[in-house]
Amino acid sequence: MSSTSTLTVRLKRLSDPALVESTRVAVRKERNATTEVLHHFIDVENRRLYADRHSSLYAWAMEELGYTEGAALRRMNSSRILRRHPHLEQTIESGKICLTQLSYVRHFFRQEKKHGKPYSLEQERELLTAIEGQSTRKTLRYLTERSSAPEKLSPKNDTRPAKNGKTELRLILNQEAMIDLNRLKELWSHAVPDGDLAEIIARAAKVTLEKIDPIKKAERSIQRKEKKVDRRLAKHAASQKKQQDIAQIDQHPAVQQKVNLPAAPKAQHPSELDMRHSSNVTSSATSMVALDTSTRVLDSAIPASAASSLASDTTTTNVSATSNATASAGGRQSSLPIIFSMEIFDEVDPETGERQICLPLLWHTRYIPADVKHAVWIRDGGQCTYIDRDGRCCSSRHQLEFEHVIPFAHGGENTGDNIRILCRCHNSLMADQVFG
Ligand SMILES: [Zn+2]
Repeated sequence: MSSTSTLTVRLKRLSDPALVESTRVAVRKERNATTEVLHHFIDVENRRLYADRHSSLYAWAMEELGYTEGAALRRMNSSRILRRHPHLEQTIESGKICLTQLSYVRHFFRQEKKHGKPYSLEQERELLTAIEGQSTRKTLRYLTERSSAPEKLSPKNDTRPAKNGKTELRLILNQEAMIDLNRLKELWSHAVPDGDLAEIIARAAKVTLEKIDPIKKAERSIQRKEKKVDRRLAKHAASQKKQQDIAQIDQHPAVQQKVNLPAAPKAQHPSELDMRHSSNVTSSATSMVALDTSTRVLDSAIPASAASSLASDTTTTNVSATSNATASAGGRQSSLPIIFSMEIFDEVDPETGERQICLPLLWHTRYIPADVKHAVWIRDGGQCTYIDRDGRCCSSRHQLEFEHVIPFAHGGENTGDNIRILCRCHNSLMADQVFG
């Protein structure tokens, strides 16, 4: 006989008072088991044991432990509250506070912190004491009265499957969002005459994604470059054709006889002239920018007097420095830490006899060029590329970050080979493995 059948038989034989008492014992065991689960969650999170296969504790609780979304969220939030307030263990086991309340409270604390009103440990304890013994509805009302963003406290937006592969979405919008949505209805009133909100939201999502999705941006960038190359090739071909036509006309016997002039010097290809001119200008401008930038970086890292003495030194000088100073690159201000090494050569040009100062700078900055980012987004498919020990790819698309395979601090470069996409969880995991 199975244990369930045995239990059923045993319960049927109990008297009414004994059955009630037995139920109390079972509930006590259930609450004890709940706090035990929460303690397990705390330790699993502390050791990041979920990270080898999942992008978050929440995902691990659903996929490994089989909890539903809501159950996983309640346990994760409650475990984080319990970690800060261990005395709650008895409160939970006594039934004075439940996981739903703790989940609301955790959400409330996060919202207040986000709005610049973080709760101290003592304030948190007072609030937790105040909601003991209250229903979840009363708890929500209590929190709403004290919230900086009451509209964000209600249960999370809900989705559920609907007919024909559609999804039912339950939304709570604040006033501002509703005004924006109504404005979109006005703007798209020709395309969506009935103002169907589902259609408006779908269109808004498409337009926004077209603008902010890094993969779409990367694809647009590549297309722009391809068109630019095509235009240049077409222009070059047209120019060559024109030169050939002119040469043919010039060499025609009739023209040679008609225009009795000495042979013209060989025409220089216009594109060659342009390129040479352009090359000179570019080279000069690059030098100026490099010199200007290096001066500004030197200003922040090395005293002006030291820099000028280095520049006027007639011998080759090697300088290495690390700076957290704000540097300007391409006209944009960046506060990224910059590591640079520099060699200064002070030479005399053998042809002109003029002194030349060369400042070849080897930049080492965290700034990843847009071209590299675009290529990495497309190569990695816009998802986390972490592979666990069983060879499974994380594939998370949540909170993605760029990671240096050879860490930046170890000299890793900002090249496509050395950059990959990881979710925040796995980026932190890799950083822990490298730096401890
Ligand atoms: Zn990941």
